[in-house]
Amino acid sequence: MVHEFTKKILSNNLYSEDEEFAKELFKINLFRNKVICIFFILLEFIIFSIYLLTSGKAFWGFINMSHMYFHIIMFLVSPLWLIIFKKVETSHNISKKLITILQFAFISYVLFWGGSISIIDQISTGQITVYSVSVMSMAVMPYLKPKWSLGIYTYVHILFVIFLFLFQKSMLLLFVNVFYSSIFVALSWIISIILFNNKLNDFKNRKLIQQKNIELSQMNSELMEINSNLEELSCTDCLTGIANRRKFESFIDFEWSKCKNNFMPLSAIMIDVDFFKLFNDNYGHQTGDYCLKKIGETLSTSLNDKHGIVARYGGEEFIIVIEGLAKESALIEAEKIRKNIENLNIPHDFSPVSNCVTISLGVSSLIPSDNSSIKTLIEKADIALYKAKKRNRNKAIIYE
Ligand code: GH3
Ligand code: MG
Ligand code: MG
Repeated sequence: MVHEFTKKILSNNLYSEDEEFAKELFKINLFRNKVICIFFILLEFIIFSIYLLTSGKAFWGFINMSHMYFHIIMFLVSPLWLIIFKKVETSHNISKKLITILQFAFISYVLFWGGSISIIDQISTGQITVYSVSVMSMAVMPYLKPKWSLGIYTYVHILFVIFLFLFQKSMLLLFVNVFYSSIFVALSWIISIILFNNKLNDFKNRKLIQQKNIELSQMNSELMEINSNLEELSCTDCLTGIANRRKFESFIDFEWSKCKNNFMPLSAIMIDVDFFKLFNDNYGHQTGDYCLKKIGETLSTSLNDKHGIVARYGGEEFIIVIEGLAKESALIEAEKIRKNIENLNIPHDFSPVSNCVTISLGVSSLIPSDNSSIKTLIEKADIALYKAKKRNRNKAIIYE
């Protein structure tokens, strides 16, 4: 069980070599290393200030005088580390290996520093406090892979124990210090593993959420596309490809209020194919469909740049609504449309009015107001169409 646990935490597979994670750790560690350096500079500065202000008197009770050289070393070396970390931060092509070596060196430096003070303390107080604090602070400050932290702690601690043997003459204190310092190192290593694992899990979870968010936004855009396609389909007449009645109704509602607000005329042209039943009966339903498609296309192109809509109103009936055309112009437009269909020259040998497919058109035009409605506009166009049918078809008639 213990063996498996050790295998698991030391295994390379457990921790992905993910570049992104390494970069994130590198940034955090760099920041924390700088904080440690600044902390040491300030700490040593305070110690020196107290020493100078009290002419060394208060110093004995505060910090051991034999530590003085280590304080000087730390005060001088910390700014150098700070410069190195600043340089690393600004250089872009620094290798991963060099970063690891630097981190390794910095932690070793701090541990050696604390360890040396505690070794010196063996001659006087016999304490291992500074070493223990250094070990613990290195466990909580930089994030390190467990195998790396194990490596550092092992080699520093072996050296520490060797020096304890050389400097501590009391067997009891030697035993106590070796025992407690080893427990401290082991605890620190476990804490560093827990912190590293938490960071890794946090990173993995963030990645997972990011991935899910990407998937969700992809699904969202796909849904939006499907929706707009559906919207398009629900507004299109499947045979002719032009607008269907539904689209027409929403369009005319909008146009009606627009023209009403701007006192603009709105024209409706109702279109019906002449003797289409005869066409169907003689040429077949499929040719009839083809004919309707052709008529739909021609009506659409006839609308040209005018603002309006061409829709299939039902069966072989079409409707065109154009904004801003006065009565006369609307009739001229209708006449043009009639000719365009005639010019298609779709043979209709069974039509009593022509030898090709023709249409009849009823036109109505009005400026929308409270006294009129969409219904009246269409009804008038319908009445005009009825008149055109009555007057031998293939005609455009305006409602007067
Ligand atoms: P009129 O000149 O009076 O309009 O005579 P008409 O024969 O055109 O009018 P009627 O209303 O009697 O016939 C309309 C025909 O249109 C009947 C129907 O079969 C045909 N029709 C309606 N919708 C379609 C369609 O989608 N495809 C085909 N091929 N024919 C259709
Ligand atoms: Mg009809
Ligand atoms: Mg007809």
